[in-house]
Amino acid sequence: MTDSIDFRRYIRSIPDFPKPGIMFRDITPLLAAPEAFRAAVKAMADPFRDQNITAIAAAEARGFIFAAPLALELNAAFIPVRKPGKLPFDTKAFHYELEYGTDTLEIHTDAFEQGDRVLLVDDLLATGGTMEACVRLAEQAHASVVGCVFAIELTFLKGREKLGDHQIFSLIDYH
Ligand code: IMP
Repeated sequence: MTDSIDFRRYIRSIPDFPKPGIMFRDITPLLAAPEAFRAAVKAMADPFRDQNITAIAAAEARGFIFAAPLALELNAAFIPVRKPGKLPFDTKAFHYELEYGTDTLEIHTDAFEQGDRVLLVDDLLATGGTMEACVRLAEQAHASVVGCVFAIELTFLKGREKLGDHQIFSLIDYH
């Protein structure tokens, strides 16, 4: 079933968004097609089914879209990683460097349990900065990061190189 779906057909490419020179890969047509979206989530789960994943973590906002159904598919906890000030309980902040300046992400202090085996999720891997921050945040919280999964990877930006030895899987790549 999954093999027969050309997921690329469900990604819309928008030139010069949000800035001139950027080709934005828009996932909303995929989200609007339940059969394709369901198949995409299953295909993203497949490489990790036998890996005892206990938690799925993702940064807002687009990461959540794939992470919640993946958590159900892999029977794992869903852990939201959020911008500062959004989570209601006690939080732990993680500060990381951007090209210009720094940014912060937060998780609840009780988000991960001892021995959690975590799969990190985002819609798209570009330079890898966002996912690198999530990997380090999870590791600082003493979770064991099993891998990272993406709907889309822009391979020419070499984001993988920032993600160490973790298992990386992306459904669609653009060279
Ligand atoms: P990175 O940190 O450079 O790897 O950028 C990845 C983040 O930027 C992800 O959270 C994406 O949601 C977002 N992003 C960057 N480029 C695109 C795009 O073309 N389409 C959708 N999201 C993008």
